[in-house]
Amino acid sequence: RRCEHQSFVGNWKLNKTVREAAALVTSLQTLVADVTDVEIVVAPVFTGLSAVAQALAGGDIRLAAQDVFWEDSGAFTGEVSPGMLKDVGCDYVIIGHSERRQYFSETNENAKALRSERTGKTGAVVKDHVLNGIVGLSADQITSTVIAYEPVWAIGTGHNATPDQAQEVHALIRSLLSEIYSPDVASQVRIQYGGSVKPDNAAALIAQPDVDGALVGTASWEAESFAQIVKVVC
Ligand code: PEP
Repeated sequence: RRCEHQSFVGNWKLNKTVREAAALVTSLQTLVADVTDVEIVVAPVFTGLSAVAQALAGGDIRLAAQDVFWEDSGAFTGEVSPGMLKDVGCDYVIIGHSERRQYFSETNENAKALRSERTGKTGAVVKDHVLNGIVGLSADQITSTVIAYEPVWAIGTGHNATPDQAQEVHALIRSLLSEIYSPDVASQVRIQYGGSVKPDNAAALIAQPDVDGALVGTASWEAESFAQIVKVVC
């Protein structure tokens, strides 16, 4: 299993001043200096992006924003465009997080990530989110997209999915991608698990064949715990 296929994103959510963000990422760089193969990404709030980009310059840790608007420019007060995120140094943006859906009425139309529910509906909800989230994406676009499966009941609750539960849904997502694109394309897409990932449960989740890393919330707000998670892989 290839280390470079593993990707870890730290979703800082609504936390960290500019100074705190720069300090966190500087500590993280030191702690993961010996990690070379695994992809590591941090997602600060918009106001922290510029300072974190400067702190990361020349290093391997990559930058993500937590949201984006799809237009390039225009009369859209309060929004930020994909080009602007690129301009500030972002390689990624988190789209369709369940907190955007819960508090800001976002729907599937602009969502490439997917979320699910605990009870029997999982299969149907996941299928719906995946299919709606990736509509119109080419094979090239899907292979540079990271899909995160995050059961809503596991986000910020301390109750992670079991490795078997995660594997079952990840395999379902991979088979959908395989049907839509091809088995080869599906194998190249990174599918992260998210929901209460911590240093003590990360290894068992990552060990599953279709789990290609993690989207980490709470445990990414401290450099030590995020570094420990990243280091369970290779
Ligand atoms: C998240 O919000 O993406 C997340 C996984 O949060 P936590 O790790 O705190 O459950």
